[in-house]
Formats: sequence, C-alpha cells, structure tokens
Amino acid sequence: MTEPTLFTKIIRGDIPSSAVAQGSTWYAFLDINPLRPGHTLVVPKEEARRIAELSTESRRDLMDGVVEVQRRLSIEFNTTDFSVNLNDGPLAGQEVPHVHFHVIPRTDGNSSNPMWRMTPHQSEPDFEALAALSQKLQLH
Ligand code: 5GP
Repeated sequence: MTEPTLFTKIIRGDIPSSAVAQGSTWYAFLDINPLRPGHTLVVPKEEARRIAELSTESRRDLMDGVVEVQRRLSIEFNTTDFSVNLNDGPLAGQEVPHVHFHVIPRTDGNSSNPMWRMTPHQSEPDFEALAALSQKLQLH
C-alpha cells in the first residue's frame, strides 16, 4: 500500500488543520504558510496528483468548493477578488502530490503580482492566528 498524502492525513484528521469549509467530496483549510492572510487550500477527498486523474464528480465539485471558500473569505476580508491557482504536477511547482486549489483573497490592488512571485506572509506558522481565523470563517 502506498503512503497516504499529507492532505489525505489532514482530511482524515490524523494531522491537525484549520478548517474553512467542506462538502461531501472536498475539504478546505487554511494554508500553514499563507502568502496572504486568508490563504486557503481546497482539496478533493479523493486522492489524485493531477486534475485529469480525478473522477468527474470530484473534479466538478471542487470548483463549488472554491466558490464556497470565496464566499466565506469575501465576508471576512471584504473583497470580491481572489488569486485562484492550481499547480498541476511537480514540473508546475506542485509540492504536495494531491490536487489542491490555492484561494487567496486580494485586497492590496497589486494585480500584477502573480502567485509565484509572492513572498510568504511570514516564515513560521502562527497556529493561534490560523485557529482564530478558522473559527470565524466556519461561521460565515
Ligand atoms: P503547492 O506548492 O504544492 O502548490 O502548495 C502546497 C501548499 O501546502 C503550500 O502553500 C504549503 O504552505 C502548504 N502546506 C504544506 N504543508 C502543510 C501542512 O501541514 N498544513 C497546511 N495547512 N498547509 C501545508
């Protein structure tokens, strides 16, 4: 048997995460090292490295997950604008081999700054801040 991915362990609750929302086929949680405040990952519960390997149901539902996360983040961060990014395979910069959308609220007006040029919000995870934001987002 192959080792479950990091995100499968998070989905199963074997590794803690700061939840944002979930559906029957997807789970959304805060990125441990946010590029901007509110940086959220939306992942299918089905384990696959690339979107083409996902079942049709998981692939379709995943975009509903992105929109639900945007709805919650838009309330918290008072914005309608987001960077939504998916690195589809290792040559595209994918580090965790499990499909995931990055959803990042954009409030700074710096639209010419693509995701791969952003610098991390901070280097050490701030677990207290992530837990507090998670609590708020789950109520929206
Ligand atoms: P990728 O480079 O594969 O597109 O993105 C992987 C993302 O997963 C990175 O933004 C990274 O900060 C995030 N990440 C890595 N390990 C963990 C973890 O244990 N928990 C959470 N919440 N995010 C993680």
